[in-house]
Amino acid sequence: MSDCSGPEDAKVVIIGSGFAGLAAAATLVKAGFKNVLVLEAKERIGGRVNTTKPFTENIIEVGANWIHGQKGNPLYKIAKEQNLLSEGACASRNMCLPRSVSSRDYFFKEDGKPVPKKIVDQVSSLFSKLTDKAFDDELAPKHRDLTLGAYLDDAFGESPLAATEDGQQVFEWCKRTECTDEACSSLYEVSASQISNYTALEGGFFNTLGPGGYRAILDVLLKDVPSETIKCNAPVKSIRWDLVKEGNCEDERCPVQIVCENGQSFEADHVIVTVSLGVLKEKGATMFEPALPANKLSAIKNLGFGIVDKIFLFFEKRFWPEDCEGIQMVWKEGPEDKDVYDSLSEGDAWKTTWFKKITGFDTVARHPTALCGWITGREALYMEKLQDSEIGDTCLRLLRSFTGWSVPAVSKMLISRWGSDSQVRGSYTFVPDGVDGVAAHKALASPLPPKDKSRGKRHLQVLFAGEATHVNFYTTTHGAYLTGVREAERLISFYAD
Ligand SMILES: Cc1cc2nc3c(=O)[nH]c(=O)nc-3n(C[C@H](O)[C@H](O)[C@H](O)COP(=O)(O)OP(=O)(O)OC[C@H]3O[C@@H](n4cnc5c(N)ncnc54)[C@H](O)[C@@H]3O)c2cc1C
Repeated sequence: MSDCSGPEDAKVVIIGSGFAGLAAAATLVKAGFKNVLVLEAKERIGGRVNTTKPFTENIIEVGANWIHGQKGNPLYKIAKEQNLLSEGACASRNMCLPRSVSSRDYFFKEDGKPVPKKIVDQVSSLFSKLTDKAFDDELAPKHRDLTLGAYLDDAFGESPLAATEDGQQVFEWCKRTECTDEACSSLYEVSASQISNYTALEGGFFNTLGPGGYRAILDVLLKDVPSETIKCNAPVKSIRWDLVKEGNCEDERCPVQIVCENGQSFEADHVIVTVSLGVLKEKGATMFEPALPANKLSAIKNLGFGIVDKIFLFFEKRFWPEDCEGIQMVWKEGPEDKDVYDSLSEGDAWKTTWFKKITGFDTVARHPTALCGWITGREALYMEKLQDSEIGDTCLRLLRSFTGWSVPAVSKMLISRWGSDSQVRGSYTFVPDGVDGVAAHKALASPLPPKDKSRGKRHLQVLFAGEATHVNFYTTTHGAYLTGVREAERLISFYAD
């Protein structure tokens, strides 16, 4: 087909309207592609970016919230140029990770006593140093083949802090909290050495957007995409490819056919698949005809796609001190304690203590009377099945027993359920222990048919974009965006040759 047509005639279907899909669409349209169609299963665009205004005129980010890093980050650049970044008090972080613990984070033990600040500072700063070593690829040989959890335990064990009960318990909180960053159920399931493939961009981890949130950046991309290009409520059921045996100008048939759940079908020269790794795990083996090659299927199987959920609690009035940025919960026997982890690895006992996986409740930008709880992994998925009221009651019980403060009833709640969302099936990618992340991300990204098996230029029938296909920026919005641009540019140079 490419011998007879140029970008004006090429039919490109993009599946998914998250950052990857919209970046691909905008790049292609700007390059002169006239037949671009985005098929989106949901009734809204954005995918894992979901900026909502459920209760007031102020936004809540149910999905992505921050721009991670500034230097070399295309989304930071757009946000900066378009004046979309937050300034002043709202520009600060609103989530407490070990490397960003501030004196305004209140740490409590389950007996209601505060954890001595000195211990929190010492343990969290040691924890940051140890994780930095893994991110910077500076692990000692003895730690390279371990899980992240096992490496951290071993390295922390050499510190005198490990000899104290408070030290051990704050260390467990650090590991539990790091699970949100890795989107995993437990650090004992993540590879220690592979996380060095993730590249952290300079300029701060928590860059907060202004009142328009992430949606404002999507709107910038949408300016380049004519509205009729995007079709929402159009879940794709199957992708048939390799439909033309020999490419020549007489043969009018397109090599790809995309069939939606409602039976509507679209022919295309190229399809860019941007559905999440979670969706590929569930449907990758049946969605494609012919089936995906074995190396792609095993990449889909081997990479991890974890769950991170947010629990937004709204109160009539603030009950925490004005300087408090977050209430963090330190358990005597938390789920990321190795002995506890081992004892709960089989059976269902962990379900009765699912709430122990909540790390704490952070304050929420622009919502002075709201808190956001964080939970990950199998416990998050378990929570997703519960009624909001049960989750709310549990959170109130925790807040009351840990702080001893007078905590009023919750007035409203908003709970994300990313694991149960059939169009996403999780939150973001991680590299499990024993998996070669680089090889898996690359296998996931490679277009079909494989070049060595294609006839001439006809190999770009099915292309893959999305956060999970980026070797260094997986998990992030900017990673997703860059993969969309990457696949669009692949097509642009295909037609430029
Ligand atoms: C709770 C949470 C917090 C996060 N926080 C951050 C953060 O602070 N910073 C950051 O950088 N990243 C964050 N992320 C990750 C970030 O949101 C993602 O990496 C990014 O948005 C992924 O974009 P994508 O285009 O690859 O995939 P998606 O956004 O998942 O887009 C894929 C699209 O495909 C659609 N789709 C699925 N199946 C079909 C089908 N059969 N037919 C048609 N359409 C289909 C989906 O509905 C979706 O719209 C967070 C994610 C979550 C869930």
